Amino acid sequence: MRQSIQNTIRENFSVISEIGDDLFKHPELGFKEAYTEELICRYLDDLSVPYENKISMHGVKCTIGKEEGYHIAVVADMDALLTSQDGEMIPFHSCGHSIQVAVLLNLITGFVKSGMVDRLQGKISFMFAPAEEFIDIDTRENLKSQGKIKYFSGKQNMITAGLFDDVDLVLSCHVMGPDESNPDAKFDVNSSLAGFLLKKAVFRGQAAHAGVIPHLGRNALQAATLSLTAVQMLKDTFSPNAGAKVYPILKEGGQTPNVICDHAVIETYIRAADKKNLYQINDQINQAFTHCALALETKCEIIDTPGYLPLTQNRTISEVVRKNMLKFCEAEQILSDVKSGASGDIGDLSFLLPTIQFGFSGIDGVIHSSHFEITNPVHVYENTALVLADTILDIFENKELQIKTPDFKERKEEYRKTWLKENE
Ligand SMILES: [Zn+2]
Ligand SMILES: [Zn+2]
Repeated sequence: MRQSIQNTIRENFSVISEIGDDLFKHPELGFKEAYTEELICRYLDDLSVPYENKISMHGVKCTIGKEEGYHIAVVADMDALLTSQDGEMIPFHSCGHSIQVAVLLNLITGFVKSGMVDRLQGKISFMFAPAEEFIDIDTRENLKSQGKIKYFSGKQNMITAGLFDDVDLVLSCHVMGPDESNPDAKFDVNSSLAGFLLKKAVFRGQAAHAGVIPHLGRNALQAATLSLTAVQMLKDTFSPNAGAKVYPILKEGGQTPNVICDHAVIETYIRAADKKNLYQINDQINQAFTHCALALETKCEIIDTPGYLPLTQNRTISEVVRKNMLKFCEAEQILSDVKSGASGDIGDLSFLLPTIQFGFSGIDGVIHSSHFEITNPVHVYENTALVLADTILDIFENKELQIKTPDFKERKEEYRKTWLKENE
């Protein structure tokens, strides 16, 4: 069974690398992935695999295998992001999500064309998820107000729509940038991502003629600048292990210098390595903003938008993944337990279910920059799909690897209430 799936994936290389190139040349921002969706659907039509599409705008899901038994979801991101090229911001696949789509299509081909689908002791759902990058917020606000999406991330919409309710385990992979300390690294395993939320603080004061009656004004800009100073001072209280990163910007700070400013806006991400620190630091910042505003007799309204929860990976399955990576590289070429300050909506899934997102190399350049080039297509499209295929087979063949989450329902409830703040 294993050999046959591996052969099918290897034989499919030229087809899949062409598809990978095609996707790479058609970058689309989150919730606008119409071309990518169509390409996926066409590919699945050719394989005669039934699917569901238009999920959270352009997401696609297909399931193969038996109704009963363990259920693995393999997830790919679909979207590109705005990347600076010669001073202009244009959509570009600088996070390598086009690769993830191609890898999943390769994996589906492996299981379907080898004829091994019917022998699976369980089922696999392949989920193509839109809008992972937390960008283009105005467009998303618009889609939200039209009722087309509920949340700014594809996976958050898929989770709340119930797509993961009967899933036992989530597998995914993501390209990694060249590592300075280990330029020969081929993979990374069991690494973590930070969590973050987006904060907007609106300060309201009282306008007054700045030359004639400034004493009757209440200065919102001063309240905002006092708040910015407070954030810098508060940083001394953040634990060095918290992974806290708070770099606020002053978005608005007055219209004209002859009027005391009555409206100022601060925006910031609050990032931390784990949920506890994220909540605690967020609370500290909110207290600081509120009280700085009060000190200057102004008001502050705070709007928090959930970003992504920190990614914590499942250790047991990470070891299975590592073992399968060793078929393609030496032990020293696998990075482990890297603590990244970046974030991804895969973090939300890791709060709910055992989750894996391993990294693979094969690009030259810098992630999220215009210098991003696929230099090792065999590694990114083929080896990565083979690691996933082997891991899936290992899990289906070993009952002790079939980890369940008995409190999924309670976790999802908590997620909707305290993170997404669904009813507020
Ligand atoms: Zn990214
Ligand atoms: Zn990414």
